[in-house]
Amino acid sequence: MPLNRRRFVLLGGLFVGAASAIACKQSTSQATAQTSDTTVSETASMPNAASVDSPQDAISGDTSLSGTAVGPDGLFAPVRGDIRLAVISDLNSAYGATDYRPEVIKGIGLLPDWQPDLVICGGDMVAGQSLSLSEAEIEAMWAAFDEKILTPIRAAQLPFALTVGNHDASSYQDSGEFIYVLDRQETAQYWEGHQSDTDLQFVEASGFPFYYSFSQNDIFYLVWDASSANVPAEQVAWAEKALASPAAQAATMRVVLGHLPLYAVSQRRDRAGEYLNQADELRELLERHNVHTYISGHHHAYFPGRVGQVNMLHTGALGRGPKTLLATTKAAFQTLTILDVFLQAGRTEYTTYNMNTMEVVDPQSLPRQIVGPNGRELRQDVTAADLTPAEQAQPYVPSEA
Ligand SMILES: [Zn+2]
Repeated sequence: MPLNRRRFVLLGGLFVGAASAIACKQSTSQATAQTSDTTVSETASMPNAASVDSPQDAISGDTSLSGTAVGPDGLFAPVRGDIRLAVISDLNSAYGATDYRPEVIKGIGLLPDWQPDLVICGGDMVAGQSLSLSEAEIEAMWAAFDEKILTPIRAAQLPFALTVGNHDASSYQDSGEFIYVLDRQETAQYWEGHQSDTDLQFVEASGFPFYYSFSQNDIFYLVWDASSANVPAEQVAWAEKALASPAAQAATMRVVLGHLPLYAVSQRRDRAGEYLNQADELRELLERHNVHTYISGHHHAYFPGRVGQVNMLHTGALGRGPKTLLATTKAAFQTLTILDVFLQAGRTEYTTYNMNTMEVVDPQSLPRQIVGPNGRELRQDVTAADLTPAEQAQPYVPSEA
């Protein structure tokens, strides 16, 4: 779809402003095991730059847009990769709420203007995980999600992938039994009725919406149930097999999605139960199968991290309760991330909007590393060799006593 003339004129006017925004733009240089290309192409960040390699026709969504700056009128327009993902997470408000904050409504309304190939939601779509909520109240929340979130996304004909969060369908167990049985039943019921609305090309869907895999535009996606700190052992075994499968390994890139992150990044989320148990083992599983990126929510704080060979996209909250990163003091804010994938180079670029100011988050304003209770995560443009002795010696400081 060609850009209309009005947008071209507008982009021309934005060009000077965009040059400064480029410095604010997250550029990553993630080499996969398949490529040794670790260089960052700054020109690829320039609006209207045409230096991006053309993807193979068979693998891209709308190849005519690749290398073109595309975004909502009046906002910084990132250069489109071969594939573009719009990543949202943690949409909910207070327990039982059937409304969404203005940032959520605004973000959903703007999604079509970024022209993504896929919308990914990192979970917490509704505000459950309260045993005092009735079946009718939970169903009312999913009805509100349907009306305010999924219906507009479907109307824009955007495929939608999700992972369940602790407020949707917590997998927390006591004595081997699920605690939030009703939440899980209602989540299953809602999504079984809307599976076809996702418009995903499922590879394995028997566990949908809790765990499943799909392929789109030569990227293999695996979704596991990380709605509590334990990914069930049988799902870990399934993931090992699914990621090793020909369908996964033949794809140019592999992406895994779960609500809880492997490593803690935000304040008041750095206690056990708020990040995945056995993070190192799970990361090694992802590394074994050359997974490029793990996308998570739950910590309500945007951070483009990397541990070992795996890029970690910690999606900020679009809804209630954004949080501050560990060992920082900056005020928290809602975010939405556009993730452009440059398949040939095995490279991704994040453009994350502060949804309060609508400005692009400057990655240099984020800490170079986050030292958490279960590991150290480096910002994606920082390598271990870049760390100063003081940074190497930085201790984990709990966010609360
Ligand atoms: Zn959560």
